[in-house]
Amino acid sequence: MPDVYARTALLPDGWADDVLLSMDDAGTITDVLRGASRRASTAGRLPGVVIPGLPNVHSHAFQRGMAGLAERRGAPGESFWSWRDRMYAFAARLGPDDVEAIAAQVYVEMLEAGYTAVAEFHYLHHGPDGATYDNPGEMGERLFAAATRAGIGITLLPTLYRAGGFGGRALAPEQRRFLSDAAGYARRLEAAARATAEDGERALGVALHSLRAVPPDDLAPTLAVADAVAPGCPVHIHVAEQEREVEECLEWSGTRPVDWLLDHAPVSARWCLVHATHASGAELGRVARSGAVVGLCPTTEANLGDGIFPLRTLLDAGGAFAIGSDSHASVSPVEELRWLEYGQRLARRERTVTAALPAGSTARTLLEHAWRGGAAAVGRSVGSLSPGRRADWIVLDPDHPVLAGRDRDDLLDAWIFAGNANPVREVWVGGRRVVADGRHPARDEVASRFRRTVERVRQTG
Ligand SMILES: [Zn+2]
Repeated sequence: MPDVYARTALLPDGWADDVLLSMDDAGTITDVLRGASRRASTAGRLPGVVIPGLPNVHSHAFQRGMAGLAERRGAPGESFWSWRDRMYAFAARLGPDDVEAIAAQVYVEMLEAGYTAVAEFHYLHHGPDGATYDNPGEMGERLFAAATRAGIGITLLPTLYRAGGFGGRALAPEQRRFLSDAAGYARRLEAAARATAEDGERALGVALHSLRAVPPDDLAPTLAVADAVAPGCPVHIHVAEQEREVEECLEWSGTRPVDWLLDHAPVSARWCLVHATHASGAELGRVARSGAVVGLCPTTEANLGDGIFPLRTLLDAGGAFAIGSDSHASVSPVEELRWLEYGQRLARRERTVTAALPAGSTARTLLEHAWRGGAAAVGRSVGSLSPGRRADWIVLDPDHPVLAGRDRDDLLDAWIFAGNANPVREVWVGGRRVVADGRHPARDEVASRFRRTVERVRQTG
């Protein structure tokens, strides 16, 4: 692939001018040259400030189709659990074509917002009645197809879902389509592994839905299957999202959920603990020492009334985090990072909570975590403009009013904390430009299929 030139780019050791980025035909960066203006005359010029693309470490793509549809007050009031009932009812109306159409829409939205990779936490395995599709990997393949259509990198996380609650409680009827037995789960992983072969934008990981849904005896065999199919792949799990979940875990085991997980599973840097909202300080210290990444989804956690994650506690312990858009109430790294920081400010009545260093930029600190933790959680070589990483980046328009008169870290702070207009001008994934002039070329076509899908689903509801 031809070289490209950036007037200013954020490299692993800081801002650099006159940067020439070289990549191979497979979409991997091969060389990063500074002070390159002479050679750059033949290279394509990137129209703005170049920074790595953001990994989105937690997505349930189908939920984009119901965003905004669970905002009416019920009796006696709405909670995460009543939202979940609505989500199950919505999911029950979706077939493979619908999931593919909705996923393509949300993936295009992610790219235009600056996400270049997504980890898809996928548990909608079967038909609405719980019957297995003829192809057990059907739904996973639809998610891959949607990602390829959009041009986003994807780590598919086929999810193990075995029980309806702590202690191996039976599944509710509306959870049947999530169910996996050991053999079926292994087949789905193998099918997904075949679909990732020789495609640099696809990868495979595993997800354990939660401690509610995965009995202890299933942990070790699932990880063994994962390592046989995709050695060293990322492992994701929802944990401690709700206080009720913490109480139920205490009742069941006498231990808090994050402690229980750390006591019984080989949690390490390949793990992504999603939410961990109600982890104690002691638990977060253990998480930090394990090297695991905490997957934070601030706009969904706000939408669902989960609570505020104690970020400063994790950071003081040296822990890692990344961001995800989860239910897609919002699809924007800006909103996730902004609300992550704002939640801390509101809870602590302080400013610039995430930026620990004197004079350090809050946005730069947030972004560096999201890149580093995000790369680990998606299990792909992304999140950095350096040789060996995927050629995934975004180009911010320095002339956009949101960024006018700002440069370097000030420009990042303006992007995350000022205004609502989107100054992402170009997005590149694997060395290919997938968003130009702020627009995905398939935006209209993908949106019209999405519109037809959500209209039809509404009529069947
Ligand atoms: Zn989730």
